[in-house]
Amino acid sequence: MARKDLSSVSLLRTHNSFGVWEIGTMMMRRLGKTGLKVSVIGFGGIKLPLISKEEAKKILNRALDLGINFFDTARNYGDSEEKIGLALSDRRDEFYISTKSMALTAEDMAKEIERSLKNLRTDYIDLYMCHNLRYPKDYDKVMGPGGAMEALLKAKDEGVIGHIGFSCHRFHETMERGIKSGIFEAIMVAYNILNDELVDKSILPMAKEHDVGVIVMKPLGGGALAAPPPELGARAKIVVTAEQALKFVLANDAVSLAIPGMMRLWEVEENARVGETLQFMTDEEKRRLRDAVKALGSEFCRGCGYCQPCPQGIRIPIILRQLTYYKVYGLVDWAKGRYRMVEVKADNCLECGQCREKCPYGLDVPKMLREAHKLLSS
Ligand code: SF4
Ligand code: SF4
Repeated sequence: MARKDLSSVSLLRTHNSFGVWEIGTMMMRRLGKTGLKVSVIGFGGIKLPLISKEEAKKILNRALDLGINFFDTARNYGDSEEKIGLALSDRRDEFYISTKSMALTAEDMAKEIERSLKNLRTDYIDLYMCHNLRYPKDYDKVMGPGGAMEALLKAKDEGVIGHIGFSCHRFHETMERGIKSGIFEAIMVAYNILNDELVDKSILPMAKEHDVGVIVMKPLGGGALAAPPPELGARAKIVVTAEQALKFVLANDAVSLAIPGMMRLWEVEENARVGETLQFMTDEEKRRLRDAVKALGSEFCRGCGYCQPCPQGIRIPIILRQLTYYKVYGLVDWAKGRYRMVEVKADNCLECGQCREKCPYGLDVPKMLREAHKLLSS
């Protein structure tokens, strides 16, 4: 399949001084030096393994119909690649596909690319990324002789992949090396109103300077900022809406697109609507949003998952999300019901302190788990 330029789609209308295009009503931006014209809301495929093939087909096609033209997945997102391939392969010329692998060597990466092509039922992947590049030794291995980059560059030369990117959590030094390498054309980072201080002061401006496209994962704080389901919304004291959280992320002009993980039709429709009505936030709106977030207090789990794994098998972010639903959104019965379904309850905590050490927000996790168990099991 030849490289696609979706900017030639007949619906393309205009662009403005922010480099924003409109396709239909969905806003589009350029993904850095890849030159791809991507919808500002992309589809994060991490949750697809949680739903059936039929449901996946429905929401993926709905997303495409609503103007979302960027679908992200990964080799290790369960059957996410397969579900995207199954649902969308007959509309392959309407969207960009991005996938990623944690392979470090050329041999392993070549196999991973083959696997992705097969799963996605395509002969061309628009963006292939090194997944979760972290430690300097891993970066050196990928970029060194026999490293994964050799396979990526070969696949690019052969026209099997279009562009090369990497995703990275927290490891700023690795982010910086990747951005400055001149090889990576896009970076995927976690960025949202709850953790913007971690990347927005240095990484995003640097990516912009080097014309490396920025894809934002976890724009809703790993779900912490996603509003509860609509049927519960009326009863919830919602402090930050998903729309506000997405607008905050997209207000940064270094960001090309945000890819919230989606698994329900209403999530797709709500998130797509944000991409249609996108307006830059005024400083006053940003200030109000920051004030609202401050009101959440310091003991607020961002759902980033850095504290995992727990030796006791406690799924900390899931339990602490229920604590947030209980305390912040006022969804007492909902949170208790969800907690009843949690297999390893918070009272299994042995207070070893590992999670507290790892939490980048300095949360006293064992104390919060004690509170969660007390409130949610009463
Ligand atoms: S302190 Fe408790 S929750 Fe945290 S890692 Fe140790 S056992 Fe797990
Ligand atoms: S407790 Fe801390 S590290 Fe764990 S998910 Fe929440 S914010 Fe992240």
